[in-house]
Amino acid sequence: MIAALGGLALLQMRRDALDNASEASANLALTLERSITRNLQIHALAIGGVVEALHDPSIMAMAPGLRQRLLFDRSINAEDMGSLLVTDANGNLMFDSHQWPPRPVNVADRDYFQAHRNGTDAGLFLSRPFQPRLTPENKSIGISRRLSNPDGSFAGIVVGTLRLNYFRKLFDGVSLGEGGTLTLLRTDGPIIMRRPYDAASIGRDISASPSFAPLLHGTQGSFIGVAAVDGVQRLYSFRRIPGFPLIVVVGRATDDVLAPWYRRAWLFASLIGAMDAAIIALSVLLSRQWRRRVDMEEHLRWMVNTDGLTGLGSRRALDDAADVEWRRARRHGQPLSLLMLDVDHFKQFNDRYGHQAGDDALAAVGACIQRHVRRPGDYAGRYGGEEFAILLPHTDAAGAAVIAEAVRAAVQALRIPNAAGLDGMLTVSVGVVTDDNRAGSDEIFGELRAFLRAGDEALYLAKRSGRNCVATFSATAAALAS
Ligand code: GH3
Ligand code: MG
Ligand code: MG
Repeated sequence: MIAALGGLALLQMRRDALDNASEASANLALTLERSITRNLQIHALAIGGVVEALHDPSIMAMAPGLRQRLLFDRSINAEDMGSLLVTDANGNLMFDSHQWPPRPVNVADRDYFQAHRNGTDAGLFLSRPFQPRLTPENKSIGISRRLSNPDGSFAGIVVGTLRLNYFRKLFDGVSLGEGGTLTLLRTDGPIIMRRPYDAASIGRDISASPSFAPLLHGTQGSFIGVAAVDGVQRLYSFRRIPGFPLIVVVGRATDDVLAPWYRRAWLFASLIGAMDAAIIALSVLLSRQWRRRVDMEEHLRWMVNTDGLTGLGSRRALDDAADVEWRRARRHGQPLSLLMLDVDHFKQFNDRYGHQAGDDALAAVGACIQRHVRRPGDYAGRYGGEEFAILLPHTDAAGAAVIAEAVRAAVQALRIPNAAGLDGMLTVSVGVVTDDNRAGSDEIFGELRAFLRAGDEALYLAKRSGRNCVATFSATAAALAS
């Protein structure tokens, strides 16, 4: 989840970086558009002034020097204006802002001249970039208008040339990163100016490039595309120049825009990775510790509840089981039987064969008891010393007596020699007591302690009866005896 959240945050940061760059580019495009529009409008105004003056007979009748000043006075204001020229229907100069009489130049081969001669549109025309004949170093574009005779026929043109240097100066000094570009192009494809400047790219038609088509969607916008000129992927923001068939395009290389993001992404991703690794390592460590602790508790519980020598239940577990089974039997009205076993003459066995042999004999007796207590719910434990107890839930006096006899016989059958015992063998005495719990029975004890005491008494009875035998506690017999 941490990795996923980190990934989402990084994606958001990337989107923000692109959005911010897009906004800055759009603002720059707007500023450039305003500046270019203002300059072109001044040019259009100067051309309009010339057209107006040409139609004024009083100006046309003036002396050439004065007329020259009146015709071209407004062009002085236009920045980077090359020349303002008026031609006749054949393209020969009639008036020239630079001198009178005009220079002997013909512009009939220019695209702007042909556009006006072949059409009737009286509006402004913006030419492709060209090299002026008189000053070839000043690459320019022409902004022109058609002159018409009173009958509407073509009478020539007025053209103002604008040096591309103006755009070059405008574009210079804008900080856009290493892969940034500024482009001014005509809406039908030719590049008017591009930064970084390369003379070869001026006039180049990029209308076939895939990043050109989106520029024609609306008057402004942004998109990511691959440049036709250098193949670099860029984030483009463009704006149309209102009133002129021009588009200004601000391009920022996506690598430049995302460079700070890349650096941050690496750092961020490494930190998240390290954090995740640490969390996983800690989790593994913690779960291992947890498992060890659970195992330890399990082992402790086993140790507390198990008698180490015989593997039977411990005295403590036996007490717990007796308590639980006692109450369960009460609840369900079921009989509960208890066998108390004590090894006969075991003190002498110990004295004679040694303590170690005594332990071995106790372990053998324990295993023998275990073999006979197989029913689920039956519980055998070491009561203390060489005494054992077996709890038999759901077992009445008759059933308990059968099991008691079986265990007694089985221990005898182990044939562990005991010189002090009957027939020289190790034997056990068994006391049996049953709490019947069923309706109509006399054999009901008021409390668990009395029940256990009765087990002891039955065992004592078995000892008195000569050992290696089973004795059953009888409430009636006990009552009679007392
Ligand atoms: P009885 O037939 O009347 O039961 O005679 P006994 O000798 O068995 O008498 P008692 O029950 O008093 O003897 C208990 C003896 O059992 C005392 C001790 O020597 C021995 N004993 C008790 N616990 C252990 C044990 O864990 N290991 C060994 N080796 N001997 C034990
Ligand atoms: Mg004893
Ligand atoms: Mg004994």
